[in-house]
Amino acid sequence: MGVLSMKGGDGEHSYANNSEGQKRLASDAKPVVVETVKEMIVKMNFPGCVKVADLGCSSGENTLLVMSEIVDTIITSYQQKGKNLPEINCCLNDLPDNDFNTTFKLVPAFHKLLKMDVKGKCFISGVPGSFYSRLFPSKSLHFVHSSLCLHWLSKVPKGLEDNKKNVYLRSPCLPNVYKSYLSQFKHDFSLFLRMRADETVSNGRMALTFVGRKALDPLSQDCFQNWSSISDSLLDLVSEGIVKESDVASFNLPFYNPDESEVREVIESEGSFEINNFETIFGLLFSYKTGRTEVKDDDNNLDQSCQFEVIRKRTSIIRSITEPMLAAHFGDAIMDRLFERYTYHLSQRYDTLRNKPTVQFFVSLTRK
Ligand code: SAH
Repeated sequence: MGVLSMKGGDGEHSYANNSEGQKRLASDAKPVVVETVKEMIVKMNFPGCVKVADLGCSSGENTLLVMSEIVDTIITSYQQKGKNLPEINCCLNDLPDNDFNTTFKLVPAFHKLLKMDVKGKCFISGVPGSFYSRLFPSKSLHFVHSSLCLHWLSKVPKGLEDNKKNVYLRSPCLPNVYKSYLSQFKHDFSLFLRMRADETVSNGRMALTFVGRKALDPLSQDCFQNWSSISDSLLDLVSEGIVKESDVASFNLPFYNPDESEVREVIESEGSFEINNFETIFGLLFSYKTGRTEVKDDDNNLDQSCQFEVIRKRTSIIRSITEPMLAAHFGDAIMDRLFERYTYHLSQRYDTLRNKPTVQFFVSLTRK
């Protein structure tokens, strides 16, 4: 399971260098996060110590940018009411294989980013472990943030033996394959909520964003085209004799992008949290810096060389997310070739893909 972590370090295909889109999503979500934190502080009557966590923090600056917004919001709320500043504990969680070091090296920059010097008041710590298990002492957390993580399952579901040529749900998909994915998601998300219910104080808040999908018939459409292109690329390598067919047959991604009703149903039946806000954002997860300009997928006026750059960059983003998982199963040696094929398949589909926003859910919850 350790292989789920994003690609560490700061190389060309690292998560740290390929997460602009995720950063933009976090900044879209900022007003709601700020509002949620302010409300929580007042409702809890300005506690002396505030403990916040970013679950699935990954490596790179994104988590610290979010934390700096949260810390600034807390400090401002106390100052405005003339209260003594609290001690703030910022906990960064991810799986043990995550490259925490790349993030920790940015902590001095994080302190500089804050509106005021709170070094003696604000403590950062790393919490390695799965958020599908207990991570914190009972009733200790005030605010939980998690961005773009909950579409990752705790494991590859059982019962996918028939999903031979695909790494995820794809049309025409067998009903039992869909059922296996859905039931793993329900199990995992419910477990996530139960663990957090134990760890958060009453009236504690959570702000969660994750990849979803529109309510559609999962049997008639591809559920996530980025993964469909991975399937196609792997099959190319099978026909080139570089990858074994049986290795593709036995590989599936531990990923599920639920629709809104599936998410609501789990929250309601688990019962510990009340939904304050449920927004669907049709975001472009992909945006790229080429030279000095920022290019977005929905830009219709790209010349050919720019389009090629964009396709390569998109490949690199997908690589930063999936390479550790793919390499663990298929070996490192085929990665360059695999992602060359990926670039090819993207360019074939680019016109349909680029205007297709990624569906993301933004869910804000209160511990009952
Ligand atoms: N929040 C960051 C990272 C998103 S990438 C951002 O917005 O940029 C998703 C992260 O979730 C990865 O780093 C992955 O390792 C982590 N993750 C996936 N499953 C996890 C689990 N069960 N427990 C903790 N972290 C998990």
